[in-house]
Amino acid sequence: MTLAVPVSGRADQTASRIVLGCIADDFTGATDLASNLVREGMRVVQTIGVPTEPLTLDVDAVVVALKSRTIPAAEAVAQSVAAARWLKAQGARQFYFKYCSTFDSTPAGNIGPVTDALMTELDARFTIACPAFPENGRAVFKGHLFVGDALLQDSGMRDHPLTPMTDSNLVRVLQAQTRRRVGLIDHTAVSRGATAIMARRDSLMASGVSIAVVDATTNEDLRRIGPALKDLDLITAGSGIAIGLPSNFGIAPRDVAGRLPAPRGGRAIVSGSCSLATNAQVADFQARGGASYAIDPFKLEEDAESVGAALQWATAALQALGAGPVLVYATAQPEAVKAVQARLGAAQAGELVERALSRIAVGLVERGVGQLIVAGGETSGACVQALGIRQMRIGPQIAPGVPWCHAQSPHAGGEGLHIALKSGNFGAADFFTSAFDLMDGEA
Ligand code: ADP
Repeated sequence: MTLAVPVSGRADQTASRIVLGCIADDFTGATDLASNLVREGMRVVQTIGVPTEPLTLDVDAVVVALKSRTIPAAEAVAQSVAAARWLKAQGARQFYFKYCSTFDSTPAGNIGPVTDALMTELDARFTIACPAFPENGRAVFKGHLFVGDALLQDSGMRDHPLTPMTDSNLVRVLQAQTRRRVGLIDHTAVSRGATAIMARRDSLMASGVSIAVVDATTNEDLRRIGPALKDLDLITAGSGIAIGLPSNFGIAPRDVAGRLPAPRGGRAIVSGSCSLATNAQVADFQARGGASYAIDPFKLEEDAESVGAALQWATAALQALGAGPVLVYATAQPEAVKAVQARLGAAQAGELVERALSRIAVGLVERGVGQLIVAGGETSGACVQALGIRQMRIGPQIAPGVPWCHAQSPHAGGEGLHIALKSGNFGAADFFTSAFDLMDGEA
């Protein structure tokens, strides 16, 4: 089934026209892809879910972030098709379905069913599947996915609670999820470049294959593959393949891609991640003399005023410091987290802390914070939702996978706010300091 309205006709009616429309099956994966596109020169907006109104910003690509990796396949299909329709209405000429670089899925999906539905929706006769991300140690060779030096089936992904990956042969894994025929464009063709890749595609198509797993072990491979994808309506991949795409649209790396409005307002960090990396980042910030305030989950439960007390402290600290940065954190060592979870229950404790931190984030923004870092994947989700953020312009990268972004929020002034969402294990120990140093460089 295709849309009744031709792409060009719809695009003319929108304020902005994009070339690349991306659908990501989780939030941090969406940011990862967006960041790769920005580095290659594209101006990118990431949306949280499928927007209900047309795009107003002038950008080259939009990444729609879904949370569809492990939901029932039919729901993942419905959300992904809705995203594709919205992206088509914004002018997208090519579509990109982004999944995890470890191909997280089960025989029930969701990579196969979503790929099938998008091919039908976009009238795509052929697509590729390539989770390779060599910079992060994900390589595909002879159709087998490697994680570092190990085959996928021998990596930690073997025991993943939701999507255990027990077969490294991606042709076999994907074939179990789709009614279309799956084949392989192997490294022999990839190493010879775009012409050889396209010749292999043509012979696969002639034999009835419509989805090809593509080998790639280095960034050079990804850049050789890029030009061969120029004519595809749909690409399915991890975030690595993105580095070879912008040049197909005549776009080269440029500073303007990641340029955000000038930073303004106070600086704050809200941290709900208890990962090793975040614990080190909190300690590093404190060791440098940074102003910080610990949230005690037991107090949160007993005392309705404790969010107010944290905000009062933060307001005074922001004033005393000029503009901060100030850190409000629930981040704790594993023993402390265990003690809280034992008394409150893990899910309840998580929710209690997320709710408190998201109210603090909103309070900080209402009190003039214009540059906010949130640490923790779930914590970020809660804060973005509480702040009413629906789309973010992607800016310069602070650490791999973590860019500064700019967003509008009903809680910020008309100028919006800068926000960086850091999932647990990302970033070096000095992340909270280096992130603001980067802002100073941008100002
Ligand atoms: P990460 O990205 O490191 O996994 P998340 O924000 O996704 O971080 O998850 C951390 C979870 O731990 C959140 O639900 C948060 O509310 C919860 N949490 C944070 N601090 C504490 C604490 N001191 N005790 C118990 N739970 C906590």
